[in-house]
Amino acid sequence: MIRNATLPDGSRHDVEIRDGRIAAFLPPATNEPGVMLLPPLVDGHIHLDKTLLGLPWVPNQAAGNAVADRIEAERKVRAARTVSEEETGANLVKQVVASGTLHMRSHVDIDNQLGLRNLHAVLAIRERFRDLVTIQIVAFPQSGLLRSPGTAALLDEAVAQGADLVGGLDPVGIDGDLAGHLDPIFAIASRHGVGIDLHLHDGGEGGIAQMLAIAERTRTSGLKGKVAISHAFALGSVPTDLAARTADTLAEAGIAIMSHGPGAATMPPLPLLRAHGVEVFGGSDNIRDAWSPFGNGDMLERAMLIGYRANFRHDHELRLAYEMVTEAAARVLGLADYGIRIGGPADFVAIEAETLAEAVAARPRRKWVLKAGRVLARDGVLALP
Ligand SMILES: [Zn+2]
Repeated sequence: MIRNATLPDGSRHDVEIRDGRIAAFLPPATNEPGVMLLPPLVDGHIHLDKTLLGLPWVPNQAAGNAVADRIEAERKVRAARTVSEEETGANLVKQVVASGTLHMRSHVDIDNQLGLRNLHAVLAIRERFRDLVTIQIVAFPQSGLLRSPGTAALLDEAVAQGADLVGGLDPVGIDGDLAGHLDPIFAIASRHGVGIDLHLHDGGEGGIAQMLAIAERTRTSGLKGKVAISHAFALGSVPTDLAARTADTLAEAGIAIMSHGPGAATMPPLPLLRAHGVEVFGGSDNIRDAWSPFGNGDMLERAMLIGYRANFRHDHELRLAYEMVTEAAARVLGLADYGIRIGGPADFVAIEAETLAEAVAARPRRKWVLKAGRVLARDGVLALP
């Protein structure tokens, strides 16, 4: 029994847990101060294979600020690695579980230099932590498809070996060929009946044109509701009426938009997208890797960063940031057994806060993280061997 719990809707109950599931919400038996219970946090975009967490500090080596500069820098860091991706990725999984994330979507680098090495590392991590977290894997062509010949066949093989979705990367900005990049990706997704999650950093009207091409292919491939675009900076760099028209097209195609609250790039207009029926969700993106020195995998902090970058101030805006790292991300990931309800899993993150807005603004310490009624972490520290 969890006494006097405040639920996300603001109601207070004693929560009865039986056999790892929520058995009943009862009137509070006492007036003692209780905790606020959130459902597990969901990281809709992480890179488990890229992180250098647990290694001595690795200075960023990118020569410039372009995506291509960072890809080059990462190749150098990767070659100099002394610890396996499996080990550093496992360090990250433990850290995010301790902060309350129990579901995530990880992109995994695949190119003609790496082959499926990183996929195998993340498949091993998924197996090792299968009782703690759900890990969805995106086969991600970090070096492009055309710039890295042979990658399309590797993506196909990655899905055959257990990747859940196909990824993509700036069809024009990286490969310089919209159809040459998108057609193989949609063909692989259709052939295997899986979804797609593409990185799209390209801004301005060029970025919008690529989104419309993605929407068109989503419709004709019958992939409505199974496609996401990560970053989508372009939506924040064009006039509002163009962003709104694009939002209508994205909503019709059931395309979701992921934002991590980027430091310098333009933000997609989250409330506008939501108002036009587009699902928006959050993710950490890079955590302590060759791309970014920042990040810790704490999704409440991520919600705060998203809100900070989006200039959110009102409670209903902070609530949108909260939903992006919980319910909305759960819908995008297609998590069937998620949410605080009778019969639902006794999976909770307990914090000290009165409202969701306060939880996002203060990102309080996680008092405990429960999975199926079992304590996984206490005060931000994993309670497992
Ligand atoms: Zn990413």
